Amino acid sequence: MSFIESLTLMLALAYAASLLYWSGQKSGALTTIILAISAAVISLSWPLMLATAIAAVSLTLLTKLRPEAAKGELRANQLRDGVQHLLALSMLLVGIQFAANAFMLNAGITPWLMRPDVGDAFLPIAGGIEIKAILTLGLWDQTHPAAAVMLAVVLLTGLLCKRPFCGWACPLGLAGEYLYKLRKRFIKSEFMPPAWIDWPLRMLKYLLLTALLFIILGMPVASIPHYLEGNYHKIADLKMALFFITPGMVTLVCFGFILGLSAWRRQGFCRYICPYGALLGLLSFLSPFKIRRNTQHCLIDSKGMSCDKCTRACPANISVHTQKNIRSDECQACMRCVSACPKREALQFSTRNGWALSARGLTIMLLLILFLIPLMAYVSGFWHSQTSVQDRIYLIQHLNAIGH
Ligand code: SF4
Ligand code: SF4
Repeated sequence: MSFIESLTLMLALAYAASLLYWSGQKSGALTTIILAISAAVISLSWPLMLATAIAAVSLTLLTKLRPEAAKGELRANQLRDGVQHLLALSMLLVGIQFAANAFMLNAGITPWLMRPDVGDAFLPIAGGIEIKAILTLGLWDQTHPAAAVMLAVVLLTGLLCKRPFCGWACPLGLAGEYLYKLRKRFIKSEFMPPAWIDWPLRMLKYLLLTALLFIILGMPVASIPHYLEGNYHKIADLKMALFFITPGMVTLVCFGFILGLSAWRRQGFCRYICPYGALLGLLSFLSPFKIRRNTQHCLIDSKGMSCDKCTRACPANISVHTQKNIRSDECQACMRCVSACPKREALQFSTRNGWALSARGLTIMLLLILFLIPLMAYVSGFWHSQTSVQDRIYLIQHLNAIGH
């Protein structure tokens, strides 16, 4: 495991343990710490050990300097922004390390910076095929195991707690938010499409998802081992990187369209294009947690007042103040509506039987799912790619000649 991956893992787990502790869940905090330290000791991985020590020191400093942040006593919006920016920073560093590794491979040098396996999260098709191999053949891929782990982890977040991956973790969503704000600086108007255009546009992402699922589900089970052992799969990550750094005209036009869409409409990419968002949106229907409006406390029903602060805060344009339970596949569990509501008990992210998750609780849940499972996968040997450096040096020289 590379140092950036280890550091992100340990910082996230240490922070989750801190939030658990200050929420009164002391046994949960202790279990998280024991698991993290045991993983570092069992694996004897120096990056993990060093990252554990750095996480402990960072958390101690944070507790002294910003106690309210360490305890998670921040407003939901600050907590979400902090988590999202730190994860984006981590992904940026991972991208730089991946690029440096690929550059050395391309030059025929044995890289002194290892490839960060978490980059396989950008191979959802490979991850889907690997999960299919596990389920149908009991075959555990050793080329890009992290792709299957990360896909499973992201899907689990959708199943358990709507789409916090989109609202709290996705670096593309964050980039889109900045693009939208930049556009608003120069052109103030909102360009909201009418419902009859919005709905078909929203279906675009489901079309893309169908195409991806067609590739994964349509691959005959018998040909999966051949694919997983093939050279294309071994360098799928490099192929993906090459696709982004040497785009053709069609790709450039698509990029331009996506950038324009993100600037034109808030969350335009998530709402209309992202197939990951589509899959999470579908899974989120099964999530026990939903934004629920309690009519006994909501100012509209309890006091007969007119209020739509929740709706106005919603970046997904959901009419929160007119519904009791927000089932929409567009809800990213961002909690902006809950933050905007003047009545504490009126709006909550909760289960049907009233078990509410605060912003702090959601942060804990998200961090534990996103980081504990990869850590366990790493310790059990299903994380690091087994493709040798010599193979990758050879394959990167023949990148353009290698097809499916
Ligand atoms: S309904 Fe609330 S939690 Fe869902 S996207 Fe809108 S503001 Fe965010
Ligand atoms: S902001 Fe709160 S009080 Fe106002 S309509 Fe929404 S849920 Fe009701």
